[in-house]
Amino acid sequence: MTEKTIYFDHAATTAVKPEVIEAMMPFFGEKYGNASSVYSIGRESKKAVEEARDQVSLALKSQSKEIFFTGSGTEADNWAIKGVAYANRDKGNHIITTNIEHHAVLHTCGFLEKEGFKVTYLPVDKYGLIDSEQVREAIRPDTILVSVMYANNEIGTIQPIAEIGRITKEKGVFFHTDAVQAIGNVKIDVENINADLLSLSAHKFYGPKGVGALYVRRGTKITSFIHGGAQERGRRASTENTAGIVGLGKAIEIAARNIDSYNNKLLELRERTINEVLDKIPYVRLNGHRQKRLPGNINFSFEFIEGESLLLMLDMKGIAASSGSACTSGSLDPSHVLLSIGLPHEIAHGSLRLTFGAENTHSDIDYLMEILPGIVGKLREMSPLYETENR
Ligand code: PLP
Repeated sequence: MTEKTIYFDHAATTAVKPEVIEAMMPFFGEKYGNASSVYSIGRESKKAVEEARDQVSLALKSQSKEIFFTGSGTEADNWAIKGVAYANRDKGNHIITTNIEHHAVLHTCGFLEKEGFKVTYLPVDKYGLIDSEQVREAIRPDTILVSVMYANNEIGTIQPIAEIGRITKEKGVFFHTDAVQAIGNVKIDVENINADLLSLSAHKFYGPKGVGALYVRRGTKITSFIHGGAQERGRRASTENTAGIVGLGKAIEIAARNIDSYNNKLLELRERTINEVLDKIPYVRLNGHRQKRLPGNINFSFEFIEGESLLLMLDMKGIAASSGSACTSGSLDPSHVLLSIGLPHEIAHGSLRLTFGAENTHSDIDYLMEILPGIVGKLREMSPLYETENR
């Protein structure tokens, strides 16, 4: 066992940055006022919430009044899709999305199908990419919304979002993008991509868990998400999570400021790891696109091994990573993303996702490369299939 865990799972969550904690702390204690109260400690909280809204809008190049705080990325996705679907039912009941969305989008669409909406799930190619022309062809007179994720959480593939936005604008259809994995890694300008709705989540870019935001372009018809008080201009009732919102604002400000140096660092670690693993370990494939992928994302499939066993052995050696086969329900179904890019079940089961972040260094990769070939070799020795292949 090593003493410290080497964390290669930044797509799952990130550690809150000290500057973010510092910005949040007063709002748990001395600045505890309710942001809706009229007295001064209430107004102080309100001011902090509005400053955070400005920080988010600055990062997305939107207007402040187009930013609404939510309780998570999942909530932002649910709200965007259900909210537009319910508010525009008189125009049509058809939604377009892709096969490889996060479950926050896929299960929301599945729920709406039960409510009578029609959903087209666009297939992706072997890299996980959709072609924007597929979107154009799928749009019908009754289409009200297109929802395509900016970047995939498992294989990191970055979609042609600006091209899709041009098409939805031309066709007069609302466009939502789940940018939960993209924020902090991709420079986003909601005007350039013609997004009408965009979801984000603070804990993916060194902010706190349990707070997100939805960008809603002015003029977009959308129902309220929770009904109650007048918070978030009546669209998302309930007392503001002031500390969380302040943390989100600070985290996105830092992420936007450092995006170039952060990306360069992650790219260097990613390229080195991909090259060394492909060079040193046989029967490995890289899932996702070689270039059009998030700078810190790697997803490999190792033939003849179980991703779960690989994760456990890495964990015993002090490395935290993720597999494509672990499903939130606890079942071992292979990932819908890996199956959608055409991987056979047995290969999808042998996948490993490594997502790099701020605290990773080349010495972490040295250590990974020291132990990974041995672990893979050991697991393969136990595999009857590997034995047959190499007899
Ligand atoms: N969308 C994507 C692409 C994600 O990766 C995640 C989190 O893993 C979510 C949505 C959900 O975000 P949250 O954890 O804030 O609910």
